[in-house]
Amino acid sequence: MRNFDTIVCGLGAMGSAAVYQLAKRRNKVLGLERFSLPHANGSSHGESRIIRQAIGEGEDYVPLVLRSYQLWREIETETGLAISIKTPVTRAAPGAFLPYKLTASCMDHPGIVYQISAVLSCVGINIESMETKTYAAPISGTPIFQLEAEIAVPARTNINQLRARFAEIQREENIDIDLAAAKS
Ligand SMILES: Cc1cc2nc3c(=O)[nH]c(=O)nc-3n(C[C@H](O)[C@H](O)[C@H](O)COP(=O)(O)OP(=O)(O)OC[C@H]3O[C@@H](n4cnc5c(N)ncnc54)[C@H](O)[C@@H]3O)c2cc1C
Repeated sequence: MRNFDTIVCGLGAMGSAAVYQLAKRRNKVLGLERFSLPHANGSSHGESRIIRQAIGEGEDYVPLVLRSYQLWREIETETGLAISIKTPVTRAAPGAFLPYKLTASCMDHPGIVYQISAVLSCVGINIESMETKTYAAPISGTPIFQLEAEIAVPARTNINQLRARFAEIQREENIDIDLAAAKS
């Protein structure tokens, strides 16, 4: 009869990982599984899983999650599989942005959205939503362009300077632009 140091029963994500890591450490390990792998009878099937670093159950888990990133990379190198892990983005603390509503209207011509969004992006303003439409002016039938956007303005932004910049565009391009704090 063969001898083993460890016998793992069940080869889902947890059992497989245990067998793999033990075998790498030259432990004589046996994995037992009641279905042929891969199968869809446990919890580990499917193509993706969410990994969180912010764990409500306790900060003790965080080093384990960070270590798992290394292990995923090791598995990629050893197997040639591509496992995608998106690096978390740093989010601004709530309150760092103020909601504003921007409206613009003028005779339709190319480049209006580009000009307005260029000013916004220059000062780090996020466009949360934007709707545009064109319609024929009553009586004259002139094509009128209208834009409405909800924007998130960084709290440090000098609103008077921003309004002054839009006033310039208003004069140069004949676009009516209004910027108002959004009612929450
Ligand atoms: C739909 C879904 C989505 C999920 N999404 C996430 C997510 O986004 N992020 C996240 O962190 N977690 C997620 N989870 C949870 C995570 O997938 C599971 O916690 C994890 O897969 C559990 O792995 P396991 O090895 O413990 O169990 P299982 O994968 O169930 O493995 C147990 C294995 O033991 C075998 N077995 C059972 N009894 C015997 C026996 N008597 N003899 C031999 N073999 C036996 C089974 O056949 C099975 O293969 C999700 C789960 C599900 C179902």
